[in-house]
Amino acid sequence: MRQAGRIVAGVLALMEEELKPGVTTAQLDAVAEEYIRKSGARPSFKGYRGFPASICVSIDDEVVHGIPGSRVIEEGQVVSVDAGAIWQGYHGDAARTFYVGKAPADVARLIETTRLALMAGIAAAVPGSHVDDVSGAVEDVAVEGRCDIVRPFVGHGIGTKMHEDLQVPNYRTGRPGAALEAGVCIAIEPMLTLGSADVETLDDGWTVVTTDHSLAAHFEHTIAVTENGPVVLTTA
Ligand code: MG
Repeated sequence: MRQAGRIVAGVLALMEEELKPGVTTAQLDAVAEEYIRKSGARPSFKGYRGFPASICVSIDDEVVHGIPGSRVIEEGQVVSVDAGAIWQGYHGDAARTFYVGKAPADVARLIETTRLALMAGIAAAVPGSHVDDVSGAVEDVAVEGRCDIVRPFVGHGIGTKMHEDLQVPNYRTGRPGAALEAGVCIAIEPMLTLGSADVETLDDGWTVVTTDHSLAAHFEHTIAVTENGPVVLTTA
């Protein structure tokens, strides 16, 4: 899983380089797929429940699951890229939100709050804790940053399957949830918005957008809970 995670981290680093005005989201997808395959892995997303591409690219009011295509990247867009790779049977899954250009203060707050919410969630994933400790840590940072939390989509267990049974909400549920013991691997993935976090899915069957068209951000890491604390797997 560490190697799968390294490959996914490489994809996102590459996307940061490639994300310039004029490039299409299909071109980003092609670059990502080539990188994943050259790394000896396969894109987890391609063909997953019929998803047609190797990455998700979600722009502005799109929260997650945007399908790459002919859309052109422009200055001033909020662009979330989600990537997954399977290497020797093990999955890595991670996402980051980028701003094309220099972000206005409120957008910078959205993006930074979402990143910090992820980091807080990761820090809470220590042996002996429960899923709700992670969820609460994410929620607290979101509230502090005055962002709304997208609730229908949650983090998940991950390993030989991209999505395993365990769910990791980005808000307190009032129940402790599963115990996090050494050896548990989860993907934590806060999705936050500047306006209302009510969402709907477009007619393409995938793209999730905010109903009020407010901007959204999404950060995700795959982590392992270990005796020595949480270890981020989707890093270089
Ligand atoms: Mg995920």
